[in-house]
Amino acid sequence: MTGKLRVAVIGAGPAGLAIAIELKKLPFVEYTLYERNDRISEIGAGISIQQTTWRMLEVMGAAEYLRDSTFHRPQDGHSVRHYSGRTGRLLSSRYQSTVPKEYLHARCHRAELQNALLKANDRSHIRTSKRLANISYLPSGRVRLQFADGYMDEVDLLVGADGIRSVVRSFAFPQHKIAYTERTAYRTLVPIEEVRRIDGFPVDDVAFWHAPKGEWVYTCNLGGKDFELTVMTHEPLTEGEQERVSWGEPAKVSDMTRHFPNFFKPIQDLFAITPDIKRYAAFSGSRLQTVVGESANIALIGDASHPLAGAFGAGAGFALEDAYALTQSLRWAYARSKTSTPLADALRLFDRVRSPHYEKLYRVLDGFKEVAGNLAAPNLQLSADEEVVVLVAMNWSQRHDWIYQYNIMQDFAEIAEREGV
Ligand SMILES: Cc1cc2nc3c(=O)[nH]c(=O)nc-3n(C[C@H](O)[C@H](O)[C@H](O)COP(=O)(O)OP(=O)(O)OC[C@H]3O[C@@H](n4cnc5c(N)ncnc54)[C@H](O)[C@@H]3O)c2cc1C
Repeated sequence: MTGKLRVAVIGAGPAGLAIAIELKKLPFVEYTLYERNDRISEIGAGISIQQTTWRMLEVMGAAEYLRDSTFHRPQDGHSVRHYSGRTGRLLSSRYQSTVPKEYLHARCHRAELQNALLKANDRSHIRTSKRLANISYLPSGRVRLQFADGYMDEVDLLVGADGIRSVVRSFAFPQHKIAYTERTAYRTLVPIEEVRRIDGFPVDDVAFWHAPKGEWVYTCNLGGKDFELTVMTHEPLTEGEQERVSWGEPAKVSDMTRHFPNFFKPIQDLFAITPDIKRYAAFSGSRLQTVVGESANIALIGDASHPLAGAFGAGAGFALEDAYALTQSLRWAYARSKTSTPLADALRLFDRVRSPHYEKLYRVLDGFKEVAGNLAAPNLQLSADEEVVVLVAMNWSQRHDWIYQYNIMQDFAEIAEREGV
């Protein structure tokens, strides 16, 4: 017993690794990061590092490690290009004229992000092969954790950073459910040398190739020997299929290509050299009204707090923002210490910073659903190519750039100042 605030973080993905870095800076906190796997491993293929993510990586002392690693940044400064997948026609090209040079969009292998965060961590606080199995409240207000191997811990604050299928979320919000979105992603890496041999392929573009119904193919150089292929498909459950559970399971390349029979020739050529592929069924759930437990000292961060199914390609960025907001809330409440309940004050502030932000993101998703509904209207006689043009204009325009440029540091300071009055 040290008299310090004892914190357990569950899950060493981007959210857990980020908050562990920030907790280390708080002298009144003693923390442990628990991960179920026997090592810190990453999922999927590539990941986008946006302005907000760079800003947080700098705060966390991890940006320098990422800058020293391998990533791709297009020479001409574009952040993304949108093409019609069938015709190969360029529909829009976005540049980041107001973004500082060091924060320009970059795409890297997910392992590079994970390694950068890991390097900035004090590893003596990380315990692997620790799968959280059960949680109970104690009359003292503390939380008891039981791990699958029988190990136990008791903490003042439990942080759920355990991803989309969060055990901590199911404990804190038992009514909340997630479900298959009917969207399945396929992801793989292809040797870049082979992609360079494809006639007419824009190898250095960060590119979406769109199809109707919101299906797309995403292609991007990762800056080293690898080239990323990620595909989003619409796959309703088949007859007799109760639920889809696959996450990262091997799939046949034809499971993916069947969605894009008439695609632009260079994309077909890329499919033809795709060695193997993994399938990721996307799950999501409704927005939680609050990201802190109602009856115990529990805070949710990262995918655990907002089951958005990777909708904006920025979930790691959101995870880092959450980690920053929660630790700054703790710092704020304990420095002020005007009340006898600084932990409750900290959790309240954290919720006031993050819940409205997630509400705004869910509203963007509602807008996407509305566009899909309008496009499905029986009286709308659009060709597949016209539908793609409308989809890109409505869902992928600059009006959503605030998501990637959002400044949590500024927002936090303003809300904390208001709360302090
Ligand atoms: C197709 C797709 C593309 C995406 N592209 C991007 C992108 O370009 N840019 C971006 O920023 N984001 C992207 N995302 C989102 C991003 O991957 C996630 O938002 C991010 O990984 C969330 O981090 P996290 O730490 O909250 O959760 P996770 O990365 O899921 O990590 C959770 C960790 O908790 C551990 N864990 C789980 N349960 C337990 C338990 N019971 N006990 C102990 N440990 C446990 C897991 O092993 C894991 O290590 C994408 C997502 C998808 C699906």
